[in-house]
Amino acid sequence: MAYRVTLIPGDGVGPEVTEAARRVLEATGVRFDWEILQVGGVAEKMSGALLPDAVLTSIRRNRVALKGPVTTPVGSGFRSVNVALRQALELYACLRPCRTYPGVPSRYENVDIVVVRENMEDLYRGIEFERGHPETVKLAQVIAETRGQSISPDTGISIKAISEAGSRRIVRFAFDYARGYKRKKVTAVHKANIMKFSDGLFLAVAREVAREYPDIQFEDRLVDNMCMQLVQRPQQFDVIVTTNLYGDLLSDLCAGLVGGLGLAPGVNIGNGVAVFEATHGSAPKYAGQNKVNPMALMLSCVLMLRHLGERENADRLEKAIATVIAEGKCVTYDLKPGSPETAVGTSQVADAVIERLLVGID
Ligand code: NAD
Repeated sequence: MAYRVTLIPGDGVGPEVTEAARRVLEATGVRFDWEILQVGGVAEKMSGALLPDAVLTSIRRNRVALKGPVTTPVGSGFRSVNVALRQALELYACLRPCRTYPGVPSRYENVDIVVVRENMEDLYRGIEFERGHPETVKLAQVIAETRGQSISPDTGISIKAISEAGSRRIVRFAFDYARGYKRKKVTAVHKANIMKFSDGLFLAVAREVAREYPDIQFEDRLVDNMCMQLVQRPQQFDVIVTTNLYGDLLSDLCAGLVGGLGLAPGVNIGNGVAVFEATHGSAPKYAGQNKVNPMALMLSCVLMLRHLGERENADRLEKAIATVIAEGKCVTYDLKPGSPETAVGTSQVADAVIERLLVGID
């Protein structure tokens, strides 16, 4: 039986890395029936819509998607298609594992952290009030009347909305993941000392949920302290659970600890639907150059195979990728900081991983 999976190539370097990922997936011997669909600027040119209904219908039907990165122009009219997709499918949990593979040029060894990021709430809800807009003036008036705090007329406002139910759902997800994957500790990250009603609520709920999982250690950290501790001694952390914005920042930080965005996989999950994608974006300056590292998306494919119940093939693919990294020959520029001229391209990395898969690696 073939798995029917929605495949979104994305833009920028997206088509190159998704093609490399598709090739290695097929080389595992697992059969896929791809439903290829476009979102973002490419889709807009074709159909007039940035996020066509057909994409949502396909993902809802197949329940699994593999997605390349999609560009969000800074300051332009439209908000991120990536955020819109997560909102539309209610993909409330973003899981981003970061581990050091031997041979990766990094300051750290033995890092194995999973960042669980809340994906629906917080400042990413897109509830914003533009400077000078009549609605903003009205909101400033309400705040002045109810709180006695003044907001100057040249202010833009973004709402940080965090709910009890949303917090409970993501913290439970993190603990269930920790239990399911035999992890020992969950660290909740917040800034509850300053934002008492949003981050404070998240922390209170996290503490409550932690009591339901006595077999898993629980601790919490302020996000600023967490950044410092991650840089100083990342090995002390296991599963991190946090709100949307901090999760976005911390998952890039953790990617940096283990060799960079070229090695950071991810998945967005919710209500029986999973969209697998790398942490990195569309890296437009490298688009079409066969240059960037496809391993982040390949490692997302490892997560996808595990999700599909193909554990053995997931392990084989991860081992093949790890071997190519350890050999250090057929890797992209980001894994060869001392000698970038000897790096290979995106598709050659796929060739090397496929070769490892086909000859066996033991
Ligand atoms: P980016 O992740 O695209 O790139 C930042 C830098 O990281 C690149 O210039 C490159 O040096 C490096 N890099 C990224 N991916 C790499 C890879 N696979 N191999 C080697 N090096 C890699 O971040 P950005 O420049 O901030 O964002 C570019 C666009 O991507 C923006 O429009 C942003 O909104 C979008 N974006 C999309 C997603 C997504 O689709 N999920 C995620 C993040 C950013």
